[in-house]
This record gives sequence, structure tokens and C-alpha cells, in this order.
Amino acid sequence: MSRKFPKIVFLFPVLAVLGAAALLLVRPHRPNVLLITVDTLRADHLGCYGYALAQTPHIDALAAAGTLFSECSAATPITLPSHSSILTGLWPPAHGVRDNGTYVLADKAVTLAERLKIAGYETRAFVSAVVLARRYGLDQGFDSYDDDLWSEKDPKLFMIRERKAPRTIDRVVEWFEAWKAEKKRKPFFTWVHLFDPHQPDTPPAWARALAPTPYDAEIASADRELGRLFDALKEAGVLDDTIIVFTADHGESLGEHGEKTHAIFIYRATIHVPLIIRWPGKYPAGKKVASPVRSVDIVPTVLAALRLKGAAETQGVDLAPAANGRDFPADLPRYSESRLSELGFGMAPLYGIRVGTWSYIRAPRPELYDLRADPDEKNNIFAANASQAARLEDDLKRAFADCASRAIESRPRALNRETMEMLQSLGYLAPAGVRESLGGMDPKDGIGIYTALEDARHAMQRREWIPAEKTLREILAKVPRNVSARNILALLLTQSGRMAQAREEYLRSLADDPGQARVYLQLGHIALLENKMDEARRNFARASDISPGFVEAYSDMGLVEVLAGNPVQAREWYDKAVAVDPDFPAVYRRVGDLYYERGDFASALVQYEEAAAKSPDDFRSLVQAGNCLRRLGRPGKAEVDFLKAAQAGRKSWVPYYNLACLYALGGDTGRSAAAMRQSLKRGFNSLTLLTGDADLSALRRSSEYPPILKTVQERRHDVEIDEDGL
Ligand SMILES: [Zn+2]
Repeated sequence: MSRKFPKIVFLFPVLAVLGAAALLLVRPHRPNVLLITVDTLRADHLGCYGYALAQTPHIDALAAAGTLFSECSAATPITLPSHSSILTGLWPPAHGVRDNGTYVLADKAVTLAERLKIAGYETRAFVSAVVLARRYGLDQGFDSYDDDLWSEKDPKLFMIRERKAPRTIDRVVEWFEAWKAEKKRKPFFTWVHLFDPHQPDTPPAWARALAPTPYDAEIASADRELGRLFDALKEAGVLDDTIIVFTADHGESLGEHGEKTHAIFIYRATIHVPLIIRWPGKYPAGKKVASPVRSVDIVPTVLAALRLKGAAETQGVDLAPAANGRDFPADLPRYSESRLSELGFGMAPLYGIRVGTWSYIRAPRPELYDLRADPDEKNNIFAANASQAARLEDDLKRAFADCASRAIESRPRALNRETMEMLQSLGYLAPAGVRESLGGMDPKDGIGIYTALEDARHAMQRREWIPAEKTLREILAKVPRNVSARNILALLLTQSGRMAQAREEYLRSLADDPGQARVYLQLGHIALLENKMDEARRNFARASDISPGFVEAYSDMGLVEVLAGNPVQAREWYDKAVAVDPDFPAVYRRVGDLYYERGDFASALVQYEEAAAKSPDDFRSLVQAGNCLRRLGRPGKAEVDFLKAAQAGRKSWVPYYNLACLYALGGDTGRSAAAMRQSLKRGFNSLTLLTGDADLSALRRSSEYPPILKTVQERRHDVEIDEDGL
């Protein structure tokens, strides 16, 4: 007792103090914060910014219920640095992130998520592109950071890991439903990033039918999905208790100034972004603010709204006075930069500043624009206005000095090969050869080559081989060491069946730039197609030597061992691949294939189901899951998977073919014939399978068979499409 006594005495005052503190700290009610960034979204392609052809009812409704800033400038037309500015309130020279892929936001940087987490918020992020993956440091302060982006639908060399809006919003809504159900829930800060308007444009058909261009259709699709999220908030009664900040990281040139997309130039086409703040009662509904503002103003604005400190550590200002008609400066300096031309292509960098009605760009041939007369910056009046330009050069220097006084060193990052090639595939980084050939050029002069390459890349993505090949050969005639052009040409040759030529182009590409892991991967695929196992093995090994942790190389090594009849070695490679990236769905499918070949259908099924769960549109895994179920004597479940596969792989004849087999085996020749006719509609043309597959023997005995046979016989066997690819 005597030993315990002092402890109790000691505890009382502590408890008393805690109790008092708890009483003092009764928190004011805090609204939720929802930050939405739509990638590559020009403000002037939204209805609320005056675009008559827009299909953006939900964003327009957001603007009608909130305050719209008609003149907001992004810090840079590049995704990662621009988002770093949005989330830290600092310009790129201060936060240190100057480009995609090669920079990581330093731990020292304080993000909005970190500030709100400390203030008691639940913090969630959902991003839709690999350039914002957590390894680049924007995950700081988030309780969870959803960047699960593997998609196998993209052509291999293009490595564009993107998640379309419907899937991202599914995940957001799923999280929201869970949040809603919590008893003692914290307010949330949620950041949702959608990537749809970024190239390549692959909008859903409904949107394509409504919108004037594929770009607008992608915006329409993002809008529809956002509507779903807004509805969920409204239904739960939290919409009006949520500060919604809607913006974009940059716009899209759409051909202005000779730039097709974005990232090189810093003209209004890519720097002017939407900014809408909806918070009923505090931000007037339907108000339009004309004073120019910047993305770096978002953090201090949110902090001020929540009465939190930290604004002084940013380079922005609170926008509430502007929204509410109070004193607000009309000439906030708007800094912007693009160093991609330099870091990615060896051209000169671009730095710009807009003050009042003037816009100035520092470049080998400097530029000055009068925004009143020339808002789109088409008429360079630098030569005639040297003193005005000099004043803006001083403003630019002041912006640099302010950045220098706040500068955070960005975390150094060794550029791994996989990242480098991903950036190249997005057109953000040229291989060494290209960088040499463009050294120091004014981007205004180098844009032609860059644009032609982008054209070719996009033609390839649309499978338009002839124009793509023509453009690529023209580029190579002008700049023979343009490795990007050569790799795309080689892929084109592979896809059009000209293997020997493709191999030659890849080898030339390696001669110019020997460290390209993905080129070795491609050489390995060609060797596989030609059944040269040793050569394939050598190439995949080289790829994984150059780029350790290259999950696709491991997975391909596994595939070689499967084909060579070495299941144990195959399994080792697959295990390595899963260890590196547990979300890479191809591995599960391939491990499934391994069990399937061995006749272990139960184990195979587990793997296929895992693959399908990781990537619900992976129709091959669904087909194989169905095949396992069939062999395990569960035809009902098999049918379900085949039907799902037919939905997921809308163009493939394979799922219906498998259904036809399933029904024929069950003796239902009527449904078998119907499924076979669906398969025919999708291009089935294999006489060998139709006449030889034992599973179809019941169908072959039925009266519905002869017309099916006739159709297939009439079809030309130009190329037997390899449905499985590699
Ligand atoms: Zn972007």
C-alpha cells in the first residue's frame, strides 16, 4: 500500500490537467475538405468558363453553387511539380520538384494533408496516374494513398499506367460509404485526381456521341463520374458541410503555338486552369472573380477557411477576400516554368511571369505579351517594349529570390530505367541521343520534332500503322539518333509482323542508347514469338540486370521457363515478381497458367481469381477461371465467369467460344450454337478449332452447325489473330 500511494498521488494532478485541457480543447466544428484535380483540363473547355459545346453539367452546377475564379494560373504544365505546388502552396523552385519521375517531394515539405491530419482530419488520396504514385512523395500526410494503377490494356511500350474515372470514383465512393458508416467519424480531407483528359483520348462511346472532340468527351466522362461523387455527398447530407476545391494541374495546347499537348510551353493554353470553390455561406454562389489568382493560393485559402495556421509558410494568399468582394490585389505575380524542355529534351528551359496585364517569358528568344490585346500570347512584342520586359524580368528575379529563401531540397532520386521508360512513353523524356541532338535550342524551334513524334505515338495508340510509320521514318531521316522514334517504329514493325526488321531497329536503338531495359524486353518477346527460348531468356535477363526490380522482366522470365517446361524455375521468377509488385496482375494469371498446364485446376482457379480481382477487366483471367470451374465440374459458375469475360473483353471472340464449348458439353446445342454465333460476330475464324475441338462435337452433330461452318469457311484467314499475345 505504502509503495502504491505516491503513484496515486502523482496521478491525480495529471488526470486533472488532462481533464481541463480536454475541456479547453473542445474543437470548433470543422467542415470536410474535398480537393479535386482533373489532369490536363483547360478552363475554357468547361461550360461554366463559357464553352458552349461543353458536356460538363456537374462541374457547371458546382460553379453555380460556388465561386469561380476566372483567371487562375498553374505553376507549371507538368503533373507532379504542379500538384506539388497545389499541395504545398509553394512554387517549383521552392518545393524543389521540377519534373515528373526524376524528383521526389522532400519530407521537409509540409503538405496540406500533413497540416490537416495534425488538425484532426482523416486524410485520403485517390490518384489516377503513375506520375503521381506514392514514391514521388505526395503521399505525405495521407492516411491512405490509393495509387493502384496496373492496367494490362495498354500497349507494352507505352506503359501509361492510368486509371479511368469510373474506377477511381468507385474507389472514392467505396471509401466514402465506409466513412459515412463510422460512428465517431473525423472530418475528412480527400484529394481525388482524375486523369481522363490526358492523352491518349479513349472516351466511352456515350461521351464521344455527345461531345465535339475526343478530348471534350474525356472531360464529359470525368464530369459524369464527379456527379456520382457529389450525389453521394448530397445523399449523405454532407455536401454543404464540405469545402470543395475544384481545379486542374494544367491545360492542353490542342495545337496552339505548334504544341499538341502540354509540358513544353508555358502559354495560357496550358497555364490557365479552372478554380472553383464551393462552400455555401462563405463563398458566394454563382460569383465570378476576375482578379488573377494562382494554384499556390489553394493551401492558404483552405487553412484560412479552417482557421488553421501555416499560410505564412506558403507563397500564396487567402482567396476569401476576393470571393467576398473585400480588398484583394489585382496584380499578384503569377510565376510559371517548364524545365521539361531542358531536363527531358536538352532544349533551353522556360521561365515566365504574369503581372497585371503583362506576360513575360525568359527564353533564348525572350517573349513579351500584352494580355489585354493578346490574351492567347500570339504576338511577341518584346523587341518594341524592352523597358517593360526589363521590369518583368525584375519581377521574375524577385520570385526566384523568394523561392530561394524558402527552398526545400527535393529528395534526390536515382532515375531507374523503368521510370525513365515510362516517362519516355508519355513523351516526357527523350533518350540521351535525342537530348544531344537538340542541345540548348529555344523550345519554339524544337517543338516541331517533338510534336511529330507525339503524332506518331498517338497514331500508334490508335493502331493507324501507315501514317505512324511515315511520320516516324521522316523524323529518323532528320534526326537519326532519335531513339524514341526508333523504338516506336520497331514496335510498329513487331505489331505488323515484320520481326526481322523490328529486331534490327531495336538493335540500332540499343547502339545509340544501350541502357534501355524495355528494348531488351521487346527483343525477348520477338525471340519468344520465334520460339528461340535461349535468346528470349538472355534478353529478359539483360532487362532485369539493367533495371533491378523490373517486374515485367521477371514475369517474362517465368513465362520462358513455363514454355521451356521448367515449372519450378518459373515459379521462382513469379515469386520474385510478386515480391516486387504484389499488384501486378499478369503474374497471378501466369502462375495460374502454370497450375492449369499441370492439371491442378483448383490451385489455378485461386490465381486466376486473384488476377481478376486485381484487374477486373482482365478478361483472359476470367476466361481461364471459367475453364477451371468447368473442369472442376461447376458449369454454372463457369458460365458466370465466361459471361463476365465477354463483357470485359468486348472485342474478343474467346469468351463466347468457351461458352459454346461449355453448352455443347452440357448437351445444350441450341445455346451452344447461339454462343458460337456471338463468337462469329466478334471475328472468330479458326476452322481448326471449329472442326477439331472435341468439346464441340455435340454442336457439330446438330442441325445448327452447317451455317456456322459455312461462315467460317467463307472467312479469309488473313492472319490468325493471336488472342493471347504475350
Ligand atoms: Zn498533368
